[in-house]
Amino acid sequence: MWPFRRKKEVGVLHGDGTRPRKQPWEEPDLHGFQGISAIRRGCLGMILASSRATHPNEFGGFLRVKGGVIEEVILLPGTVSGNEHAIFYTHMLPVDMSIQGTVHSHPSPYPYPSDADLELFAKHGRIHLIAARPYTDKSWRAYTFTGDPVRLDVVE
Ligand code: ZN
Repeated sequence: MWPFRRKKEVGVLHGDGTRPRKQPWEEPDLHGFQGISAIRRGCLGMILASSRATHPNEFGGFLRVKGGVIEEVILLPGTVSGNEHAIFYTHMLPVDMSIQGTVHSHPSPYPYPSDADLELFAKHGRIHLIAARPYTDKSWRAYTFTGDPVRLDVVE
């Protein structure tokens, strides 16, 4: 049986209208979920730098995972950054089994998935990152494809 249910109380808007969830945010308790336990520090740095560079618009990309570690961000040609939501042209995605998730930024201070994010998560892989303003080591979160928060180690 699949133990995680998609959360119903997620009610986060993007952009300036973003508000925090009604429920207190739960701390990530999943680690090594589906064998993915870490992100490479350089990859995280690139995500945060790209998020900062794209602000106040959103940045989006896909994640390449090898040996349980998120190694690389892939920017797709045609990925559009908007101040509402990053648009993923997923038909542009190369056939590549090492691509196992997504990443996008939130110009708001809330790294929590919106309903649209949860739909994206459910369709495109098993690990998903959101980096929120101010795009630091402390302002990003990782999620399963059902939107449950995941703890990832940052490794060299
Ligand atoms: Zn989002």
